[in-house]
Amino acid sequence: MLGRRALASLVLGLAALPAPREVLAAVTGATLQGVGPGARLTITLPAGASWRLIAARRPNRLLLEVPGQAWRAATSLRGAGPVRGARVERGRLRLDLSAPVALQRAEASGTRLVIELVPGSAAAFARLAGGSGTMAQGGAQAAGRTARAESLPLVVLDPGHGGRDPGAIGRAGTQEKRIVLAAALQLKRVLEAGGRCRVAMTRGNDRFVPLGDRVEFARRRQAALFVSIHADSAPGARGASVYTLGESSDSLAGALARRENLADRAGGLRLPAVPPEVQAILMSLVRAETRTGSALMARHVVSELGEDVPMLNNAHRQAGFMVLKAPDVPSVLVEMGFLSDPQDEAALRRADHRAKLARAMGRAIHAWLAQGRATAAVFG
Ligand SMILES: [Zn+2]
Repeated sequence: MLGRRALASLVLGLAALPAPREVLAAVTGATLQGVGPGARLTITLPAGASWRLIAARRPNRLLLEVPGQAWRAATSLRGAGPVRGARVERGRLRLDLSAPVALQRAEASGTRLVIELVPGSAAAFARLAGGSGTMAQGGAQAAGRTARAESLPLVVLDPGHGGRDPGAIGRAGTQEKRIVLAAALQLKRVLEAGGRCRVAMTRGNDRFVPLGDRVEFARRRQAALFVSIHADSAPGARGASVYTLGESSDSLAGALARRENLADRAGGLRLPAVPPEVQAILMSLVRAETRTGSALMARHVVSELGEDVPMLNNAHRQAGFMVLKAPDVPSVLVEMGFLSDPQDEAALRRADHRAKLARAMGRAIHAWLAQGRATAAVFG
């Protein structure tokens, strides 16, 4: 039996709680933090609540609408990354931007909505703000469509090597890690200007990333496509080529994969544990679909690059590159040329040649996305 004092404090305690209705109809938390060059906004809101993130210009800003919800969280937030600051204004959260942004992730799960923004191209932002303005939305009013479905497919670009691993080094001293990073950044700009996909990079600067982490990076984000970019050395070989996962199709491909895989003896690949037979069957179906997607992408790369730059003979080859081993993300590895070949090295050192390669790879990715969507429409 409760004593009087205990009972009184229990009653007082209950009285101090807000009425359930109020708890259900409010945004109760908001934080903004820097994540690398970007920013992460985390909102606490009732599970299933509708929300919409809108891009607007003059000045560049984002507006987060949470219709029907009172705003009980902090009403102004200190800036982070490309967000100069945020405040509640006319019932919406207004994020003022110091630079155009692209959406990296918008995910509502339970009572938490996480929005990640990264620096983006001015052209793509202007196009979005000038059009529907809707960057992402979710919740009950989105009629079952999730935030993920609203956002564009994600393409992960993977510039090889980095940091203490320079990759191949040409006779003129050109380091593969620098060439591939420059080309990947160029390709990122091409894709962002196209506005047909989101882009993330496994590295955006000169740092070492283990091979397993590159694969995991793409899998964790449920990337639609993974494109690893290299310019290795292969004695006697010249021209661009593309590789998909498989038994080595020839000794050149096998040697390339062996050398690449050495970049990361410690990393290892962490595939999910697949115990029972059913999971194994499902996995093999997923792998088959991934293989088909990868091969299709390789065909697009060969045909688009072939328009503009010299190609290696048999330009699509197979090998056991670690970095291509995601079971569920179509993956290709593009060798833009070989730094061991003086002519390739001279070309790869030139920004205009890398821009040409980036445009061709951009066309291949766009063609692949268009075809993939057509397939999804048939089966979905
Ligand atoms: Zn390489």
